[in-house]
Amino acid sequence: MRVKQAFRFSFIISVILPLASTFTLSMSAPTSKLYDLPVSNNGARCRIILYKKEIPTGEVQISSPMDLGGLKTPEYLELNPQGKMPLLVTDSINIPESDTICRYLLSTYKTGADFQPDNPTSNLIARIHDMYVTTIQGCLYKAVPPFGIFGTRSDAIEELQKQLKIIDDLIDSEKHGIYLCGSEVSLADATLFPTMIFVALLLPKFGVEDALPPKIAKWYDEVREKDQVFTKVYDEVKGGIDSWESNGRWENIWMAGLRDEDPDTIFDKIISGDIPASIVHDDGKVLAFKDINAAAPAHLLVIPKDRMNLSKLRKSTDEHIEILGRLLVTAGKLANDPELGFEDGCRIVINDGPDAGQEVPHLHVHVLGGRSLTWPPG
Ligand code: AMP
Repeated sequence: MRVKQAFRFSFIISVILPLASTFTLSMSAPTSKLYDLPVSNNGARCRIILYKKEIPTGEVQISSPMDLGGLKTPEYLELNPQGKMPLLVTDSINIPESDTICRYLLSTYKTGADFQPDNPTSNLIARIHDMYVTTIQGCLYKAVPPFGIFGTRSDAIEELQKQLKIIDDLIDSEKHGIYLCGSEVSLADATLFPTMIFVALLLPKFGVEDALPPKIAKWYDEVREKDQVFTKVYDEVKGGIDSWESNGRWENIWMAGLRDEDPDTIFDKIISGDIPASIVHDDGKVLAFKDINAAAPAHLLVIPKDRMNLSKLRKSTDEHIEILGRLLVTAGKLANDPELGFEDGCRIVINDGPDAGQEVPHLHVHVLGGRSLTWPPG
C-alpha cells in the first residue's frame, strides 16, 4: 500500500507537475515582450524575424514603450537603462539590442527560415550597417546635429552614401534569388531592409536623388514586392514616417522643409570664382579673403561657403554650431599670420543687421589687425 502511494506521489511530481506548469505557462502571460514601435528600423528587423517565423503573440508579444509611460520613465529605464528601442524582455534576460534580439529569437524558435546566422556575407552586411550606418542614421530625421561623430548633416549624408556603396559592393551581382545572399532570407535582409525604407523615403528630402545604390535598389524593390513580410514591414515603417510628415516634422528642419530664401550676394560670386578676390584660405567649407575696402592694415573676411540660411548671425541655430566654430577657428589661425599684416592682436567683428551696418547678407567674420584699435567701436 505504502509503495503504491509513494509511486503515485512520485508520478505526480515527475509527470503531472511539469505538464501542468507548461500548460500554465502557455495559457498565461507571453514568454517574452518586445518593446518596439512600428517606425523603429532596428525594431522592424526583429519583427521581420517574428513574422517570418510566425512566432505567436502568445510567445512574443509586441508592446509599445508607451505602455510603461515611454522610453524615459523609471519603469522602462529599469528594464533598459539606455532608454532605447527595441527591447526584448524574457523571463531570463532583458535584451536591449536588435542583433542580439534577432539571434536570441533564431536560437529559441528553430522552425521556419533560419536566417543564415553563420553566412559571412550576411554578417558582414549587418555589421557594417550596425557600426557605420545606424550610428549616423539620425541625419535622415533628427532636427539638429551631431549625427554620430558628424557635426553637419551634409558630412553625415556623404558618409552614409559611402557606407551604402560599400554594402552595395558586397552584393553578388550574379546571385540567384531575391534576397541579399541568394534565394534564402538572411539576417542581412532583416537588418538592412527597414533602414533602406528610411533612406529611400528621406534622403531625397535633403536633395539626394537616387538615394539607394543600384544593387541595393534592385533588391529593395524586389523583396518589398515579392515577400509579404517585407511588404508588411514596409507599410508599418512608412506609416510611422507618414505620421511624422502629417505632424509637420520637416517644417523646421534645414533643407528638408526649411530653405534659404534670401537672394544671392556678391560673396556667392566670389565663392564661384565669377569675380576675383584676394583669397587667403579655402578649405572647402570656409573661405577667407581680403576686404576690398580695408579698415585696417590687415582686414580679412571669413565666410561659410555654404551660407546655410545664415544671411545674418541672428538666424543661427544648433544646426550651425559646427560652421560657426570653424569660422572662428579659421579667423584665429589667420590672425596669427604676420605675412597677412597681423601683429600682436586682432579684432573679430560680426556686423549683424541694419543697426550694425551689415551690408552683405551672407554671414562674414571681419578679422582686423596690424594697428592698435580703439574701443569702444563707433
Ligand atoms: P558688412 O558691412 O559687415 O556687411 O561688411 C561687408 C564687407 O564686405 C565690407 O567691409 C566690404 O568692404 C566687403 N566687400 C564687399 N564686396 C567685396 C568684394 N568684392 N571683395 C572683398 N570684400 C568685399
